[in-house]
Amino acid sequence: MCTRQLFGKLFLMALMISSCSLLLTAEEKIDYQMIVKIREEGLNNSQVMELAQYLTDVYGPRLAHSPSYNEALSWAEQKFKRWGLKKVTIEPWGKFGLGWENQYTSVHMITPRYMTVIAYPLAWTAGTKKKIQAPTVYVNTEELFNQKDLNFYRGKLKGKIVFIKPKRKLKLNFKPDAVRLSREELEDMATLRITKPTQINSGLHKNLENLPAGNSGTKKRTLSWEQIEEFLRQEGALVLVEPGMGADTMDKGTVRVNDYPPILPEDPIPLPHLVVAAEHYNRMMRLMEMGYQVKMEVDIKNKFYDDDLRDYNLIAELPGSDLKDEIVMIGAHLDAVSAATGATDNAAGSAVVMEAMRILKTINAQPRRTIRAALWGAEECGHLGSRGYVRQHFYDPQKKIKLPEYDKFYVYFNVDWYGRIRGIYLQGNDLARPIFEAWMKPFHDLGMTYLVPGNTGGTDHMSFLEVGLPGFQFIQDDLEFFTKTFHTNMDVFDRLVPEDLMQAAVILAAFAYNAATREGKFPPPTPIENGRRWHK
Ligand SMILES: [Zn+2]
Repeated sequence: MCTRQLFGKLFLMALMISSCSLLLTAEEKIDYQMIVKIREEGLNNSQVMELAQYLTDVYGPRLAHSPSYNEALSWAEQKFKRWGLKKVTIEPWGKFGLGWENQYTSVHMITPRYMTVIAYPLAWTAGTKKKIQAPTVYVNTEELFNQKDLNFYRGKLKGKIVFIKPKRKLKLNFKPDAVRLSREELEDMATLRITKPTQINSGLHKNLENLPAGNSGTKKRTLSWEQIEEFLRQEGALVLVEPGMGADTMDKGTVRVNDYPPILPEDPIPLPHLVVAAEHYNRMMRLMEMGYQVKMEVDIKNKFYDDDLRDYNLIAELPGSDLKDEIVMIGAHLDAVSAATGATDNAAGSAVVMEAMRILKTINAQPRRTIRAALWGAEECGHLGSRGYVRQHFYDPQKKIKLPEYDKFYVYFNVDWYGRIRGIYLQGNDLARPIFEAWMKPFHDLGMTYLVPGNTGGTDHMSFLEVGLPGFQFIQDDLEFFTKTFHTNMDVFDRLVPEDLMQAAVILAAFAYNAATREGKFPPPTPIENGRRWHK
């Protein structure tokens, strides 16, 4: 008997002793036998890392509607079927646009000296058609406010590689890359404060309207990024180049790549556009400032796919029994940004959802309500997959009518993160507090202890809340997300922490099972706006 099994047995005994007294006070009934089975299967026989490895090493990057995403969907579909789940379906959620795939990137400085350049093309931008060698030029697009500002550059950009942003200032970093949420931080999050709502980061490519005003202070910006790009195209610019941005720690080879939004066949294809490691960008900028002529060699092969403009989610069910028409949902977005293999965002969440379903099926859980898992498409493009699904199954916002499954819906739990689960956001739904307090209790020893009254946004549970259905997202440790992996070229399998994903899968399976066996209705969300943190 391994120590984990011994631990499981001791845990069961402790629970049986304490559950007698708990039953007298707790209103929420917990099936502790089942919780122990979930823990044993999830902690002793976990497959979560194997699942995550396929999703990253084999099927990365899984950019929305790309060939690798579609292959990941088919692979996950086969897994679900092999495990014996029902109604396993790759389901179109609506019109998306063109598929895109980077097939080759080679970037170098060739003059005044040779240097290999760390560089990534932005998704849904054009390739270079062939290998090109061309001089560079600097156009600070942050200082282009109106048509008159463009005149200075007329006739100067033909056949050039255009550096479009200032040098990035790099700083020493004295803080640790990896962090877990401290007790103080969690206590602070769990304390209700009434604050003004702040904007949610949508993850979309930012227009220049959002950029700082630069040196010109109050000068009004009348040019959109699309207009600036059209000017650069007409002037004959070959490739656009910008430095990797993001947190101060996203340097030294870490490059954040904020893809373009997807495009339709009738849209203009954006110019070839590279994000370059900040140190390499800065060196070439300094050489230009010193008066040297910098030349680069660039070869980018990007392929667009127009054979199917729809994108897809994957759905699988563990059927319920006496309440089988009612639906408990768990989900995670399967798509990722283009630069790496989307490990922490969000192969992790996808593997956790798959593993939770595997655990429940393996231990022969018999839920009363049907547990439905979803791997969502195109979250990184604005929660499109989950939003499309909600509109097809639950609520038609155009006709403003509830669809048949709306009244059968119970609750949704989302996983879009990779650290250990520390609690759950109540999303202002205070009636869910006693329910989650009871459900968290068996997981205090695994580090899940906090209920946060506030909201979190920025991911797929919002699609449910938008139409008045209860949707939740867990509080998870940051680990290296904000310092290293958030939409960067280094969001890879090596960043994942096995114990954290095992813990998350066990908790998700238990929450799904508890919801699927609970007596009574789940309290609907309340429209309380009490401050929103993005993910954290
Ligand atoms: Zn995500």
